[in-house]
Amino acid sequence: MLTNDKLAEWDRESFFHPSTHLAQFARGEAAQRIVTGGEGVFIQDRDGNKLLDGFAGLYCVNVGYGRQEIAEAIADQARELSYYHAYAGHGSEASITLAKMVMDRAPKNMARVYFGLGGSDANETNIKLVWYYNNILGRPEKKKIISRWRGYHGSGLMTGSLTGLELFHKKFDLPLAQVIHTEAPYYYRRPDMNMSEEEFTAYCVQSLEELIAREGADTIAAFIGEPVLGTGGIVPPPAGYWQAIQKVLDKHDILLIVDEVVTGFGRLGTMFGADHYGVKPDLITSAKGLTSAYAPLSASIVGQRMWDVLMKGTDENGVIGHGWTYSAHPIGAAAGVANLKLIDELGLVQNAADTGNYFWQTMRDEVGGHGNVGEVRGEGMLCAVELAADKDKRQFFDASEGTGAKVVAAMLKRGVIARAMPQGDIIGYAPPLCLTRAEADQIVLATKDAITEVLG
Ligand code: PMP
Repeated sequence: MLTNDKLAEWDRESFFHPSTHLAQFARGEAAQRIVTGGEGVFIQDRDGNKLLDGFAGLYCVNVGYGRQEIAEAIADQARELSYYHAYAGHGSEASITLAKMVMDRAPKNMARVYFGLGGSDANETNIKLVWYYNNILGRPEKKKIISRWRGYHGSGLMTGSLTGLELFHKKFDLPLAQVIHTEAPYYYRRPDMNMSEEEFTAYCVQSLEELIAREGADTIAAFIGEPVLGTGGIVPPPAGYWQAIQKVLDKHDILLIVDEVVTGFGRLGTMFGADHYGVKPDLITSAKGLTSAYAPLSASIVGQRMWDVLMKGTDENGVIGHGWTYSAHPIGAAAGVANLKLIDELGLVQNAADTGNYFWQTMRDEVGGHGNVGEVRGEGMLCAVELAADKDKRQFFDASEGTGAKVVAAMLKRGVIARAMPQGDIIGYAPPLCLTRAEADQIVLATKDAITEVLG
């Protein structure tokens, strides 16, 4: 077996890691962890650490690690049919079964599901479908996409543009011209401390209306948003937000893409976030929880009014010119079927509601009173602790101090993984949906101790 030192050296010399400080990593100054295994909510590494994964990988290992049912399904599929494409009406038992299972779980107004590989490509598909739709309807000018600041929708050319975080634009010549951004529904960071939640919702709606008026509704095709802002800070929307936004979109004939890459298949304690907030999407983007990341797979779920136009489009123009070699990959599909069965059998959607709400409310009780904890928020199995230098004046630490990252590092010493979110000193949590109350308590305790260690 290779020594740890040898592997670490090869790693530094050969491996281009995503979302990593490349220079520090190459010089051996950045964190490096070689992960070897996982069981339940824990992972192990080559240095012998066993860590409670409070972020489920990247909010994706929803059923937890080491599920033999999924491993067996993948192995069986690989032996029987490792691959066949899905072009021109081809399929496999696994991909057809998964399509049926997804549609049985999707909100009522959805019509078909297209399978890709990850969240970014699913959003890429969705934007192409929106453009195709408006071209078929004879509205070639109606193409712009509205996204929110702090939204996260991927890191491709279009999806990185939709993402409303500076880090993903800077030095990449993004965002592309077709993408415009509107207010983040982030009540804690509202512009005026005296605003109620309802007033802040009205403010977000007014900003959207103004943007639409400025750009012209006949140039805007779609609005994309996560039910709960994820990578932008784990922020549930203010009261009444989604209903109010949907009204504006309906009025201006703007399609709604609900990005459920994080929230799909149970994380909010409902199968989809669209159900949770009572909105009617034209398109849903999903990935992570679809297979619990046992294999890469994404889903673009298409609503009825779009589907009708897509069918008309092919009647007029022939085969739709969109597809990837690995669309509906049988191994991903087999993982998805086994995963969705397991979610049902273990009652994980309900556990996300019950244990999830217990988790973030306990977090609020235990750390919310600390002088540097500005806000603790959550929904289902999502939670965030936002730090503040001065809580009463809502003043934040200087970004260069890396306070959030220091707390996350102090948690790691206590055997718990959380994530320092990329913008602001926000500690994020998205544990596997199978979390128990005892494990939730362990995360809360590690957080409390780490905050005390770093901030007193
Ligand atoms: N949308 C959302 C809401 C996400 O959180 C992510 C990934 N974190 C993506 C899209 C992109 O998914 P992927 O990284 O699989 O391309």
